[in-house]
Amino acid sequence: QKAEWKKLKDAPSVTKDGKHFTIAANIGTPDDMAGVLENGAEAVGLYRTEFLYMNSSELPSEDDQFEAYKKVIEGMNGKQVVIRTMDIGGDKHLPYLPLPEEMNPFLGYRAIRISLKEDQIFRTQLRALLRASAYGRLGIMFPMIGTLAELHKAKAIFNEEKEKLVKDGVKIGDDIQVGMMIEVPAAAVLADQFAKEVDFFSIGTNDLIQYTFAADRGNEHVSYLYQPYNPSLLRLIKHTIDAAHDNGIWCGMCGEAAGDSVMFPLLLAMGLDEYSMSATSILRIRSQMKKLDTKDLEGLVDKAINESLTNDDNKKLVEDLMNKL
Ligand code: PEP
Ligand code: MG
Repeated sequence: QKAEWKKLKDAPSVTKDGKHFTIAANIGTPDDMAGVLENGAEAVGLYRTEFLYMNSSELPSEDDQFEAYKKVIEGMNGKQVVIRTMDIGGDKHLPYLPLPEEMNPFLGYRAIRISLKEDQIFRTQLRALLRASAYGRLGIMFPMIGTLAELHKAKAIFNEEKEKLVKDGVKIGDDIQVGMMIEVPAAAVLADQFAKEVDFFSIGTNDLIQYTFAADRGNEHVSYLYQPYNPSLLRLIKHTIDAAHDNGIWCGMCGEAAGDSVMFPLLLAMGLDEYSMSATSILRIRSQMKKLDTKDLEGLVDKAINESLTNDDNKKLVEDLMNKL
């Protein structure tokens, strides 16, 4: 099977009936690029920049960040690279940035919430990203956006730094996309309004599931509530994808669910545009995509969100479909 998958390295990601969807890779450091290229990713859909901060004994300088971002962007040779701004907090800490002791760190001071408050750190990162954008096709993505006000603030800071660089004659890319993660349920519910203000969405199911079911993603006592196929979650995802398309923007997914073979036919049926996963999942999903005809998927979503009652019902629904192919 693995040998069969290997042949798909340079093949396009298309369904049986020839429809193209992007399969992208998630990375944590520029060193992950070897795996991305080996597995034939069509884009980088999520570069988690917090490792740059965590693997350092002090705040990484603008130049250090620029070099890391440039390396990844150049490595993709014109294909899009989506870089997420720092997602510190929750379970990720920096020795040189003291954070408050919190009762519920995952509900606390985290990601964009820190960036908007510690805006010097955020501005430095945005400048490094903007400078690196000259070397390829960059998407910048904000994590943990929950309200329009947060998005407005993040975009305003981004535009200020961009204007400063342009005024100083620094070369930046002319096709930078600005997007946001959909991983807070409030943002998913209001996706139709957010979609008017960004170039793309990327659904972060790891957190979206955690917050939708109010179940800590790392707590084994509530791991039964990790239910990617539950109709409640599927409705949020469908609403997000529809809102994106109604407003002419693309929608991706960069949580674990994007590379899950039960989730995949459901997402394809909803028309999700981009699937970003660990590099080692890419060829498996590309092979699965080849087996699926979008006509076979008609009616699947309606059943999954309107008739099905449970996570397990939907798992069986998809498994039965896959077994028939
Ligand atoms: C997610 O929440 O699904 C996601 C991709 O982000 P992270 O796993 O880094 O929180
Ligand atoms: Mg997340």
